[in-house]
Amino acid sequence: MTGKPAYRMAIQTREQHIKRERATSNICTAQALLAIMASMYGVYHGPDGLKAIARRVHLLTQTLRRGLLDLGHQVGEDLVFDTLRVTPAGRQVSEIMTAALYREINLRDFGDGSIGITLDETADEKLVADLLAAFGAEEPIDLAELASDARLDVPDAFARTSSFMTHPVFNTHFSETEMLRYIFKLQGRDLSLAHAMIPLGSCTMKLNATAEMVPVTWPEFGNIHPFAPAGQTVGYREMFTQLEGWLAQITGFDAVSLQPNAGSQGEYAGLMVIAAYHKSRGQGHRNVCIIPSSAHGTNPASAVIAGMKVVVVGCDRYGNIDVADLRAKAEAHADNLAALMVTYPSTHGVFEEAITEICAIVHEHGGQVYMDGANMNAQVGLTSPGHIGADVCHLNLHKTFCIPHGGGGPGMGPIGVVRHLAPFLPGHPVVNSNDDAHAMGPVSAAPWGSPSILPISWVYIALMGADGLTHATRVAILSANYMAKRLEGHFDVVFTGKQGTVAHEFIIDCRGFEKSAGVTVEDIAKRLMDYSFHGPTMSWPVPGTMMIEPTESEPLTELDRLCDALISIRGEIADIEAGTLDRADNPLKHAPHTAEMIASDGWAHPYSRERAAFPTPDLRDSKFWPASARVDNPFGDRNLVCTCPPVEQYA
Ligand SMILES: *Cc1c(COP(=O)(O)O)cnc(C)c1O
Repeated sequence: MTGKPAYRMAIQTREQHIKRERATSNICTAQALLAIMASMYGVYHGPDGLKAIARRVHLLTQTLRRGLLDLGHQVGEDLVFDTLRVTPAGRQVSEIMTAALYREINLRDFGDGSIGITLDETADEKLVADLLAAFGAEEPIDLAELASDARLDVPDAFARTSSFMTHPVFNTHFSETEMLRYIFKLQGRDLSLAHAMIPLGSCTMKLNATAEMVPVTWPEFGNIHPFAPAGQTVGYREMFTQLEGWLAQITGFDAVSLQPNAGSQGEYAGLMVIAAYHKSRGQGHRNVCIIPSSAHGTNPASAVIAGMKVVVVGCDRYGNIDVADLRAKAEAHADNLAALMVTYPSTHGVFEEAITEICAIVHEHGGQVYMDGANMNAQVGLTSPGHIGADVCHLNLHKTFCIPHGGGGPGMGPIGVVRHLAPFLPGHPVVNSNDDAHAMGPVSAAPWGSPSILPISWVYIALMGADGLTHATRVAILSANYMAKRLEGHFDVVFTGKQGTVAHEFIIDCRGFEKSAGVTVEDIAKRLMDYSFHGPTMSWPVPGTMMIEPTESEPLTELDRLCDALISIRGEIADIEAGTLDRADNPLKHAPHTAEMIASDGWAHPYSRERAAFPTPDLRDSKFWPASARVDNPFGDRNLVCTCPPVEQYA
């Protein structure tokens, strides 16, 4: 809008909302936070730092190899970088493994008389000496002598000649001071829960309490290898078992698998479990998955990836599943019905009254019921998927159970299942997470998904207890109903139940403003940034609307602040409707307003700067300044660029 270049993410794999059953990926929550952590490693070390790290690891590996060869062990002549495969001579593998364990080192026993060793940048001279001692070297060991003929040169065939990580960001921040300021600069551009509520309907952005987050940093959780020997992970596994038990109680199910890394992966895993169950009963041909038109895009995408055929059922004008249509389709597909995927409370923010009938219809026709558990924040303690009659559900631990997921992850999407499906839950070939003979293969690389973030949900449940969790659900529902009532007369709530109430979230209608004032739902979301808010979920499940979910974490003052902002924006729309604000040049169309725009000598809008930047009095006390003005989305979609070269090159 200001004519400057801007960079935004293009829709790539997160395409399921648009393409649904034609999507090629069901990925929704990603592992963005973890990817950012890895990228910061690159930012800090830069290409030279990484090369230095690699050289040192390689040098230590060469030194270790020299020592092992001197001891008479067989190491092979192949070129190595950081990994050796050793066939010991004159010593049993078990003897070496025990001697290494005594020095607190885990080695890989290949089971064929050879041992695997990999060094990384945490390795040092002491580790190399300890390893050599475990392989039978006499101490003290003269490492300098062993290192003297270590070769650091990589043969031409493998040596990299091109430069890499040439972007300035990887060549600027090399001291802790610079790095700290860089990270803080980025953090300051991000409106997070530390600034304001993030009322994302369906995505449940609640408090990530410090007490819940602290254990993530403990090496006892954060530094455990996913395949560490069972004898070294007793406490870790006790946490899994307890958490599985609690989640089983909360969902009303018999068994839980912690393996899926996100809700979407839980959907895939749950549908595969259903498919395995049908197959075990000689019904492997059952492949039809009924999905309501209001479903989250991951549902149809997951069904297709699980090899199923999607049949869509419609909704009535109250937003509920059209039960007659469901019955007709279940009957029509009775011979091949595998599953129904259903969200409760519905994606329309209403406790669907026919839910038990819906589950019964599917069961009558030989199908299983998959419940999308993204809305568990409206169920915990009050009802449960098991109680309602579902057979499988995923839990988004990063929504309902406090794992932070701003910016796309990390996630955890465990699934709970009824007793007859438990045997089919995912197993794992390295560390067995389900030892039943019917277990399907793994859905994640690690047996318990992303276990280092599980303490967050464990601490949340342990601290809240049954009464606390139930109270939280009540407060979440009350908060949504409070906001819906306060907004009455300003915005229409699209769907309510028979008693005029909503569940833990609700949808406000913004569709009429396009005609009356030329204002779109996006204009309202952008304008909310000027009021120091993150926009709610936009245009899903109903185009042109906003879905607001306050959660139990937000105090009444913050609920009121958002209501005040929305009511004030409605007033601005009224001014456009009345002609007091220009239809094309108004605070909504130019939102968000950056500090640079407000301070510019060239301000040429018919509304005042004060009205643009400080529409409500509380903003004078605390205002989040958006870092960039309105982005031209269609232009971005048409002009894909890779951010590898410096951004300046595109300017
Ligand atoms: C978030 C969400 C999903 C997908 O879960 P991810 O953890 O993001 O993969 C599925 N359904 C609904 C209704 C959701 O809100």
